[in-house]
Amino acid sequence: MDLTPLTESLDDAVRVVGRVAPAISRLKLKRVIDLLNHFPRAYNQRVGIAALKPGMYASVTGQVLSAENKATKRRRMKLTEIVIGDESGTLKGVFFNQPWLTGRFKPGMKVRLSGPVDYAYGAWSMKPSSFDLNPPPFTPGLEPEYALSEGLANDDLADFVRKLIDRAAIIPDPLPEALRDQLRLMPIAEAYRQVHFPEHGKALDAGRLALKYREFFLLQMGLRLRRRSEAEDTELAITIGDDLRERAIKYFPFEFTKAQQRVCAELEQDLSTPGRMHRLLQGDVGSGKTAVALYAALLMLDNGYQCAIIAPTEVLARQHYANISNYLKATRVRVELLLGGMKKTARDAMMADLADGRIHILIGTHALLEDYVQFKRLGLCVFDEQHKFGVNQRAALRAKGNRPHILAMSATPIPRTLSMTLYGALDVSIIDELPPGRTPVVTEWVQRSRESAAYERIRAELKDGGRAYFVYPLVSDSDKLELKSAITYAEELKNDVFPEFRVGLVHGQMPGEEKEAVVQRFRNGELDILAATVVVEVGVDVPEASIMVIENAERFGLSQLHQLRGRVGRGRKQSYLFLFGDPKSGEAVDRLTAICRINDGFKIAEVDLKMRGFGDFVGTRQSGLPKLAIGDFDADFEALNRARTDASRFGPSVDESLIRMCLELHYGRKYRLLDV
Ligand code: ADP
Ligand code: MG
Repeated sequence: MDLTPLTESLDDAVRVVGRVAPAISRLKLKRVIDLLNHFPRAYNQRVGIAALKPGMYASVTGQVLSAENKATKRRRMKLTEIVIGDESGTLKGVFFNQPWLTGRFKPGMKVRLSGPVDYAYGAWSMKPSSFDLNPPPFTPGLEPEYALSEGLANDDLADFVRKLIDRAAIIPDPLPEALRDQLRLMPIAEAYRQVHFPEHGKALDAGRLALKYREFFLLQMGLRLRRRSEAEDTELAITIGDDLRERAIKYFPFEFTKAQQRVCAELEQDLSTPGRMHRLLQGDVGSGKTAVALYAALLMLDNGYQCAIIAPTEVLARQHYANISNYLKATRVRVELLLGGMKKTARDAMMADLADGRIHILIGTHALLEDYVQFKRLGLCVFDEQHKFGVNQRAALRAKGNRPHILAMSATPIPRTLSMTLYGALDVSIIDELPPGRTPVVTEWVQRSRESAAYERIRAELKDGGRAYFVYPLVSDSDKLELKSAITYAEELKNDVFPEFRVGLVHGQMPGEEKEAVVQRFRNGELDILAATVVVEVGVDVPEASIMVIENAERFGLSQLHQLRGRVGRGRKQSYLFLFGDPKSGEAVDRLTAICRINDGFKIAEVDLKMRGFGDFVGTRQSGLPKLAIGDFDADFEALNRARTDASRFGPSVDESLIRMCLELHYGRKYRLLDV
């Protein structure tokens, strides 16, 4: 037996020379382990033609009977039809726009075609996704199909993997032995072999499960290590006496809901025990997250720390600033607002006070991340709408203190399974109760043909003292054409539809002060209608607003629609949301029906996740998770849950350096320990 390949490392650069080298590097398969972790995206069943089934992904070996070019009638597409036969029947392979292929398939030669098959008019056909002009002898089984790049044939890639597959034997196993025995998972090397070159479906399933489970286990262990290093920070534990509690609570002009009280207690626990807090606070729009964050901030202030609250938009930052200064107006707590584009003199003065510790709470936008922002003793960072900030931005703010506490807030709840994966069960707080006096919003989907009827209902509401948002979707605020149509739209509302009411417009390209001035007029009741691009999504708090109309509602995602809806239903009046739009796709119809039916933000999030999938939902970059090699957050919840339980049971007995080594091996050097 030749053991030389095993003495080589998994970190070795993949050595490919010649024609396919650039194609491999385009796939970013740099190291041996990357190639091994480039798993097939599908499998084709190697079968004889008689055993084909419609819709099957098959790999069929046969002799070329004919090969000819044809043209489709309607579109000017060139078809190449290749007929192959084995002892059990014939199959037609259809290629589009590759006329040169006819020359390569010479009658009489043996070939293999792989791809989805179809049966119509008594004949089998296939649109091959790959082919092989020099196929190995036929054996039943599964044929891997890889994601490819131009200039790389499926079989070339399969060959590379085949040459390296023995090295899977030196991939370290993150599972402790006791757990391995208990689970009876397929060993790593065997699992890699079966996933790349399965002998049959059962072995493939067992192999995939073995690798997925290990991947999730590794991630869970990574999270544990991060948490443990945080738990070792003892410096930040503050003292919270009853007296402080009472003083802090008095600043709020209302009584906390039960849910808020529970979360406050969770925060107190985090802040007063050793270890850095890293908590996710989830709650529907308007559920009172900011109030709770401020409570935590007050506890920190009293212990001599400063706090930072960062929000993704200027409107939102201003809103927090207005609310919080209002709560604290009778105190000596100094709250300041830092936005981009401030005059330098004013900013310098503010920064001097911040560095001196004379500012206690600094609220702002991304400007907070700039180098010139230096705190004296930053103890708590609050991220509002935390998913809008990337990993690096979160790290940048944190770096301004000596490992300060972190409170990440989100009104776009991550479904429970996922948030537990990212944060751990104990580090997620949920406000699942709205402050009293809110009425559920009635949501209706209005087709174009019924718009005028809806306008009349809105007119009646406005006459009755209601105020309305008209939201116009912009794909990007920088698109001039789109912006123009938003402005035209506002003009139409003002001149044609509601001439008797006062209409204002805010959009993303307006200077911040101008924007704030318009919102202020709406808040004061000087405007009846606020036409807006999505800037109202977060931040505007006008309890008198009882109507929202969303134009082209089919262009918004489900969670975004729900966020927008949170802007109404904040006062005594019954509130309405009208969704205007004639969606073309079935998925958009599903979204609009779902938003009319469901009011609960967490249920919305679950549905949204199902519709969109995890990647799109949080975005792996934002979540701080690496790109998974084989596990799938959508499909593999069960394995994920199991890995989480096992990680907490077996975690203490796992060798830390082994976990670090595995994380680095699979996800690369640049990949730091999970940092969400
Ligand atoms: P969130 O940050 O979750 O969107 P906020 O903390 O901004 O929610 O609260 C939304 C509105 O509700 C604010 O005007 C706030 O003053 C008010 N509010 C918060 N908590 C309560 C409460 N317990 N009772 C009454 N009003 C509250
Ligand atoms: Mg908020």
